[in-house]
This record gives sequence, structure tokens and C-alpha cells, in this order.
Amino acid sequence: MTRFLPHPRLLDSPRHRDWPAFSAPQVPDGSPPPPTGADVVIVGAGPAGLAVAAALWHVGVRDVVIIDRDGAPVARFLGRVDRLNQRVLRSPYEHHPGVEGYRDCELRDFARMHWSLLTSVERREIRMSQAGHRSVVPVDVFDAYCRHTSVIHQVPQRLWLGEVGSVEPGADRVLVRGGDFTIEARHVVLCLGEERRDAPASWWSGDRPNAVGYWDEPVHPDAGHVAVVGAGLTAAHLIHNALDRGARVDWVLRKDTERYQCSDVNASFFRAEGRARFGGQARQVPWAERLALMSRERRASVMFEFQPLLTAAEANGRLTVHRGNGIRAVGDGHVELADGRRVTGDQVLLALGTTPSIGTGLLPEASVGARDGWPDLDERTLAYRHAPRVYAAGAAACMVLGPAARNIDGHRVATARIAGAIAAQVREGVAQRVRAL
Ligand SMILES: Cc1cc2nc3c(=O)[nH]c(=O)nc-3n(C[C@H](O)[C@H](O)[C@H](O)COP(=O)(O)OP(=O)(O)OC[C@H]3O[C@@H](n4cnc5c(N)ncnc54)[C@H](O)[C@@H]3O)c2cc1C
Repeated sequence: MTRFLPHPRLLDSPRHRDWPAFSAPQVPDGSPPPPTGADVVIVGAGPAGLAVAAALWHVGVRDVVIIDRDGAPVARFLGRVDRLNQRVLRSPYEHHPGVEGYRDCELRDFARMHWSLLTSVERREIRMSQAGHRSVVPVDVFDAYCRHTSVIHQVPQRLWLGEVGSVEPGADRVLVRGGDFTIEARHVVLCLGEERRDAPASWWSGDRPNAVGYWDEPVHPDAGHVAVVGAGLTAAHLIHNALDRGARVDWVLRKDTERYQCSDVNASFFRAEGRARFGGQARQVPWAERLALMSRERRASVMFEFQPLLTAAEANGRLTVHRGNGIRAVGDGHVELADGRRVTGDQVLLALGTTPSIGTGLLPEASVGARDGWPDLDERTLAYRHAPRVYAAGAAACMVLGPAARNIDGHRVATARIAGAIAAQVREGVAQRVRAL
């Protein structure tokens, strides 16, 4: 069998090119405060929030307020990938952020429109995508495309910097509260994304040891030897960056072997037949079956492009891989493995993945209806069953849409359901008010 091993040069796309007409977004300073009422409040302006805003624009719902901690579209996602020095997306050109069913200028169209700005390697990837093969998307193209999408759907005019502290559902209104604002909304869409997964409390007692950091924090630039814990793409980036600046690396993996895969989710889950394994009109899938699928399909993996680099580094002794070893404890500059061995480094870097934000802490617990860490959502509309004016897009929808719900492509499927449900209710509300006149 021929194995597809893309060239590692694909990992080196330039960043911060001068994309005409789409300058860096201005982060609002929080004043004036957001309006006190809106048809829809979207919490979170990541790829999911952007997709929902674009979908609502297309179905004619324009009284929309978006609140985001960073106050700019897709800022947390870009901040995370830039922190890791990740230059290409894991998802291909077909997985463009946008709206299911509307033929906006898509990610590949946008890249082709800016052909002269692309490197020859990047142009080749577009040709690969056009020929129906897997393609690699530069983060820089994605960033500019997200700005384009937000501008054409008038997102900057609807976006406010702020942190939502509570979402209080009522019979015909939902109150969205932050430190210095309260918005009365007819509908709320939670697009909260995922938080970094922290180490288990048993790994150290009390405060985190000094020489231990997480993947989304600054790495010590002088660390000549690092120990990286984790099996996913973030771990691979930390290793790649350390090797690049001449450091030695110890890589600690719980599984017996590392796993190389294009996407972090099996490709079938991006298609209707994969989603059908989680339910749909044809059949109700028992909760236990979906739970088992989720735990099997959310396994960490690394993009193929890393394989030649990491294999060569291991062969020449700059990378030592500790496979099949759990962690007993983590201390200042060392890791104690389950088999009793100790791995040392100037810095220990933890890349333990992320945990979906499902609305806990914002909504009352009874509204979330959490079961095994997942919210109780209506399968047709993605509304919380116990708070039907509040909806969830992104990773929180995995038990309805499957593991691809957390990815850029999954957001499009979620937004089609949410925007359709909200548009129908907004139209019905207008009709009722007209009848009451
Ligand atoms: C390093 C990395 C690389 C990835 N690469 C890919 C990839 O190539 N392709 C892919 O499909 N997926 C990728 N993913 C998965 C990726 O996280 C999702 O595709 C995408 O970021 C999810 O978008 P989101 O909008 O759901 O979440 P986020 O991008 O996290 O956006 C959520 C936003 O909501 C804000 N927020 C949360 N709570 C509140 C609150 N209470 N008040 C105000 N604002 C709030 C957050 O600050 C954030 O800005 C990657 C993930 C990581 C960590």
C-alpha cells in the first residue's frame, strides 16, 4: 500500500501578509456598552460564533449582539495557533467557516482570488484541493478569510468586548449579564468553544511547580531540554518548535504508539453518514452508544506532515519518545513515569487537550441538564431542552452531531439548524405582534 506522506515544508506558511482591504480588526474598548435588548445574543466570536452570525444574516435576523472576551472575531483560535507557531490548519479547504446552504465566497475561492500573495507550495495545495485531494490551508489565508466573512456579514458592527457571567432563561426572554451590562434577548446562542484541559490534581500537590507550563502559555526561550507530555497536535508543535531552536526533547505518551492522521476526527464524521451514527430522522441512537463512539473517536493524533520530522529527530537522538507510560507525578523540571523512571528537562510542557464548555457556570444547572459532561440538547434545533430559547454550537453539540461538531466544518451544520429555528420563531413573533395591533 502507498502511504501519503506530505512534505514537512507544508508546515512553514508565512504569517501576517498584507491582505488587501481586510486590515486587522480593531478591538473595541468596551464603550459604548452593548444595547440592552436584541433578538439574538451570540456569546463567543470564534469560528462557531462567526458562522452563526453569518447564518442569521442570511436568514434575515439582523438584530444581533455578539459578546466576546477578546472582542475580535476568531481571536482566541488565532491566538492559540500563533502561540504554537502553527502555520497551517488541520482542516482542508472544503472546511470553510461559513453557512450551510449559502454559496458565499468560500475559503478556496478566497485563496484563489489572492493567488499572487501565495507561495508555490500553497498554490500547489489549492490545485490539490481542486482535484479532490486532501489539501493544507495556511493559517494566514484562514485569518484573512475570517475577516472577509465577518466584514461581509457586518459582524464588527454587532460585536462587543465583554465577558458574559450568567445567562438566565425565562419564558419569553433570556437575560444575558456581564460585569457592566445586561441584555434582554429573545434567543441566545452559546458558542463558547473549549477550555484547556488541566493536569489531574494528583500530579502535584498545592501550587503548580515553577518549571511546568501548559501549551497555551509562553515557553521559556532558553530551555535547552524540554519534556513534552501529550499525544496530539499541540504536543507535536511544542516538540517541533523546541527542536527548531536546537533544544533536546523527551516526549511522554500514554499510548503504546503515536498516531498520525490528517484530521483529528475520522473523515466520515464530516459527512451525513457519520453524523447519522449519532442519530437523525431515521433512528434514535441510544446515549450509551453515542458516548462509546465519542470516547473512541476523540483520540489524540498528529498531522501526517510531522511524521518525517519526528522520525528523523528520534533516529538522530535529539528526540526521546517514552511510549506507553502514564504519569505518576510532575515536579519542578521533571516527570515521574508510571514505571518509576524519571524524565527531566529545563521545562515540562503539558499538552493535555481541551474540554468542551457546555454552558455550566453560565446557565442554571437544571437548564444544562448535564450528563456525562454533555448538555441535554434538542436534536433538531440544538436548543437546550430545559431552556428552549438558548442554543449551543461548537463542541457542546458533539453528542448530537458527532465529534466533528467541534471543528470548523461541524459549525456549519450546527448553524443551519440553529439559524433556521431562530428565524422561524422571530418571524412568528413579528406576526403575533402584527396580529395584536
Ligand atoms: C491549537 C488548535 C488548533 C486547531 N486547529 C483546528 C483546525 O485546523 N481545524 C478545525 O476544524 N479545528 C481546529 N481546532 C479545533 C478548534 O478549536 C475549533 O475548530 C474552533 O476554534 C472552535 O471554534 P469555537 O468558536 O467553537 O471556539 P473558540 O475558537 O474557542 O471561540 C470561543 C470564543 O468564545 C469566547 N467565550 C467563551 N466564554 C465566554 C464568555 N463567558 N463570555 C464571552 N466570551 C466567551 C472565547 O473567549 C472565544 O473567543 C483547533 C484547536 C486548537 C486548540
